Amino acid sequence: MGFKYILLLVVGVLLVLSVAPRLNRVSNPSWELETMGTWGNVTISGPVSKTELRSVKNVIGMELEMVNRVMSTWQSDTELSRFNALESTEPFAVSAQLIAVVNHALQVAEWTDGAFDPTVKPLVDHWGFGPETDPAPVAEIMESVGWRKVSVLDKMLVKSVPELQLDLSAIAKGYGVDRVADVLRLAGFENFLVEIGGEVVAEGANPKGKRWQVGVENPRAGEGLFQALELSGRALATSGDYRNFRIREDGTRYSHIINPSTGMPAESDVASVSVLAPSCMDADALATALFVMGAGKGLPLVEARDGVDALFILHSTNKTFVTRATSGFPDRGIINP
Ligand code: AMP
Ligand code: MG
Repeated sequence: MGFKYILLLVVGVLLVLSVAPRLNRVSNPSWELETMGTWGNVTISGPVSKTELRSVKNVIGMELEMVNRVMSTWQSDTELSRFNALESTEPFAVSAQLIAVVNHALQVAEWTDGAFDPTVKPLVDHWGFGPETDPAPVAEIMESVGWRKVSVLDKMLVKSVPELQLDLSAIAKGYGVDRVADVLRLAGFENFLVEIGGEVVAEGANPKGKRWQVGVENPRAGEGLFQALELSGRALATSGDYRNFRIREDGTRYSHIINPSTGMPAESDVASVSVLAPSCMDADALATALFVMGAGKGLPLVEARDGVDALFILHSTNKTFVTRATSGFPDRGIINP
């Protein structure tokens, strides 16, 4: 064998060795999720091996399926639906996952003085936004509504009124985003974005090596972004009256967010409220609560809380909007003030 031949062989082997791993990798993989009655997306910055990508996608899929199986009220066989169907004040054993989310929901309820209330399910049904119908008068339904009427006892949930039912729709999406982000972190990824139905967690850098930019939607549907902001290390969630609403006979509309103190759909000048918080579960629940509270009560509450910021987009005259935000809400990158 000649020297030249050996050299060629060595160069060839080196070439194959250096190219092969790259052939097995995907740059900046991004894929869609369909979960909790909505759509989502995951993007990872940088190259990821195909094997690793396959397994991380699988784990994320399973994780979200579990969240759905535990806390959806849209299927009758979930853990939450079984608790709801139980017309009894007997303690009901549930998974650690459900205990964690209910505990968290009750904390947010306390902190927002009941503006967030996970016991609104019968009201949500009554107003036509839930999986069932409830023709009973609001005053009667209100007797089984109130976050103090449910408690967590070790690994069990207890109703103090047999008719009480929980709805975790205002916190579950955020919880799902947190779970997906946890899967990615555990797998060693540091640069990624997770979004489910508009609730987002972004970490590290985007595929261009810059900070992730996310958008706050224009509350006028179909008009694109209202404001762009850089997101890193915090979660963003938005609640608005523009996504899920019904129209009354007189043409006025009412939203899917209920004011738990009146039992009526929340009515205020809030078009949308976006919340930045350390976890997406917090951001999600707080956005719903702040929609009920309005800017007047909501801003001081959030201003006093470390790591939490909010942007209210308020309906103004002549179909325009005005904004009010806490001092820490990034005001850069306004696209359409
Ligand atoms: P979100 O879109 O995150 O604001 O969540 C709204 C959903 O949460 C509604 O469709 C209801 O199922 C439920 N919900 C409505 N009002 C409240 C409330 N005041 N507190 C907690 N959950 C609520
Ligand atoms: Mg919410």
